[in-house]
Amino acid sequence: LQKPFLKIALDVPLDRLFDYLSNGEIARIGQRVLVPFGRKELIGIVMGSADTSDIPVEKLKSVIQIFHDEPQLDAHTLNLVKFSADYYHYPFGQALLSVLPARLKQIAPAKTRESFIYKLTEAGKHFSLDALNKRQQVLRRVLQALQTQHFLTDQDLSTLSATAKKSMQTLIADGLALAEKNIAKKQFVSTHSHPQLPALNAEQQAAVDQILLHKNSFTPWLLHGITGSGKTEVYMRLIQAVLLPESRTNIDAQVLVLVPEINLTPQLEARFKNRFPDFLLVSLHSNLSESDRLLHWQLAQSGEAKIVIGTRLSTFTPMPHLKMLIIDEEHDASYKQQDSMRYHARNVAMMRAKRLNIPIILGSATPSLETWYNVKADKYQYLALNQRAVSAAQLPEIHCVDTSKVHLQQGFTPQLLHALRTRLARKEQSLIFMNRRGFSPVLLCSACQWIAPCTRCSSRLVVHLKERKLRCHHCNFEQKIPLQCPSCGNPDLHPTGLGTQRLEETLAQLLPEARIARIDRDSTTRKNALVDMLNRVHNQEIDILVGTQMLAKGHDFPNLTLVGVMDTDQALYSPDFRASERLFAQLMQVAGRAGRADKKGEVLIQTEFPFHALFNALRTQDYVDFANAELEGRKLVNFPPFVHTALLRAESNRFTMVMQFLEAAFAHAYMQHQQVTVYEPVRPQMERMKGMERAHMLLQSSSRGALQHVLKNTVSHLRTHPLASKVRWAMDVDPLEF
Ligand code: ADP
Ligand code: ZN
Ligand code: ZN
Repeated sequence: LQKPFLKIALDVPLDRLFDYLSNGEIARIGQRVLVPFGRKELIGIVMGSADTSDIPVEKLKSVIQIFHDEPQLDAHTLNLVKFSADYYHYPFGQALLSVLPARLKQIAPAKTRESFIYKLTEAGKHFSLDALNKRQQVLRRVLQALQTQHFLTDQDLSTLSATAKKSMQTLIADGLALAEKNIAKKQFVSTHSHPQLPALNAEQQAAVDQILLHKNSFTPWLLHGITGSGKTEVYMRLIQAVLLPESRTNIDAQVLVLVPEINLTPQLEARFKNRFPDFLLVSLHSNLSESDRLLHWQLAQSGEAKIVIGTRLSTFTPMPHLKMLIIDEEHDASYKQQDSMRYHARNVAMMRAKRLNIPIILGSATPSLETWYNVKADKYQYLALNQRAVSAAQLPEIHCVDTSKVHLQQGFTPQLLHALRTRLARKEQSLIFMNRRGFSPVLLCSACQWIAPCTRCSSRLVVHLKERKLRCHHCNFEQKIPLQCPSCGNPDLHPTGLGTQRLEETLAQLLPEARIARIDRDSTTRKNALVDMLNRVHNQEIDILVGTQMLAKGHDFPNLTLVGVMDTDQALYSPDFRASERLFAQLMQVAGRAGRADKKGEVLIQTEFPFHALFNALRTQDYVDFANAELEGRKLVNFPPFVHTALLRAESNRFTMVMQFLEAAFAHAYMQHQQVTVYEPVRPQMERMKGMERAHMLLQSSSRGALQHVLKNTVSHLRTHPLASKVRWAMDVDPLEF
């Protein structure tokens, strides 16, 4: 493009492109440029060029720099962002820059860091592990790994231990190991030889065959199968068929696999790498360093990486030869972005597959009701895996224990304690699931009923006894536990209710011989803490695991035969209409942890409502039954997926301003379209958060088109509203949380 004017997308909250004068060099669409903006300089993306501009030439500034050496964004990616920005009513320029790795937003050429691989020297090869001091455990592990594997990468080291890099430096200093520049991108492929593939069972084979029959056209598939039914194995066969077709002609293929953040473990990555030693595989997730993220992104963009396995943020990764999309655990809430552009990765991926005319596979044990609805409407094809893949692995038995009928010992029923003791005696492992971290959710004054509040949110402070702190789980505000009640002076303050810390402590008292580990966000903040803990579980160094939903997913513990579920009753009667859908998915998932190998599992759910319909469906592990009943209920009250919704969210430290803004929005949107219902602004359950007063306005319609029409009008009206720059606001299309 060498026209005099360039149209540039910038990260500013205005939904338009900006005109600049060309600097005389050739600029391509999708290329990164540096431009002056006000008193600042900003990174922008070239979106087009023109012979004229609506703005007088003397007012236009010239582009400062074009980053010629970088590959430009391709048209498909730009169009996908454009579609998403329109659908989610977010300014295009901001949307575009928000999906790029941070390094591409910096004012500097995007260069990737060099990486290294590590090998043993001759001396290292002959060095005996016994010569090491027993206490140098990490050093020992690193050396052992080097001796069994051909070489190690930086990534391997960080998986081994947080201090493995340091140990490697010691080994290099001692002349036992050496570092080589990693030019061959070896770190992205496995060194293992081709693995033996298990024979697929009939259902798996049918799923693979059917999908491959339509592998050259847009077909959405739901692969419905409980944990352990072999979904991942099906994905891998599909990937193999796409990357290595029998004709061996189409090797320019790429596959994108989306997984929830919490599931993208080194183990999962290794499983894929080992299966495909001949193909470059990269991961993309928020725990990568910025330079790794850029490198992986660029490998995908160049087409070198054949498999990209990533979380939500990888949805927009440029992949010139994308031939198949896979979304594992498609129901997972982490696919929805909760700030800036509030996109849903599943929906964006669906659009991406449609535009590329490629198949998209959604996998889940408990599909979202939206997806189930689409299956019933014949928009998605349905494939079921009804058996566990390993024939010996049986489904767990699920029982409810009525907590209103027995004496609880600090939250535990005698039945659950008995079951835990039995497992201890049999040297089997147990898991206690509770979705509330901390010691207890409230600190209560026994005299005046004062409860420690968060001053910045409409919430209570959670007691973290180990750290002697009260902490808000919404805004991370912290304070010391007060010695006396600030309201009446009473020194008798009680941590009330259960959290994972308390369960861990209680179990340590009640079962002193048990080795207990707690896994939640607090216990896993240290890098590699989770991996270390999971290793200990696998090495049978742990008898009882206490944890939140972090434990419910992905991990496979062959010797775990008991799952105890604590205190999930509030979700049964929650005002949030999705609470039961989420609870069912969570409990199915956590139940799936029990009895994966040859041992039968048991699940004990402590509840006051043992005959609740949700538990009945859970006992028979009948998702279809549950989903149909739930859909029926939603239909009666006209909730999603029977209607489309959008939520205009607004917040400010001044409540009157929030309401003024929403009233203006209401006045504009109301009666605009007869098929769209606009509700008066109301406050959410969390009225205040991080010191901000919040309110929102709901829009709803059975016609997506009609809703989009009103949203577009309303948002463009609001962008120029005088209050728009004074309150924080966002349009949340297809919101998951209210
Ligand atoms: P999911 O993804 O549904 O949880 P996986 O694909 O991880 O299930 O399979 C669960 C376990 O069963 C894995 O250890 C996997 O290697 C094994 N597996 C899967 N399919 C087969 C098969 N056809 N034959 C033998 N083992 C299998
Ligand atoms: Zn008091
Ligand atoms: Zn708070």
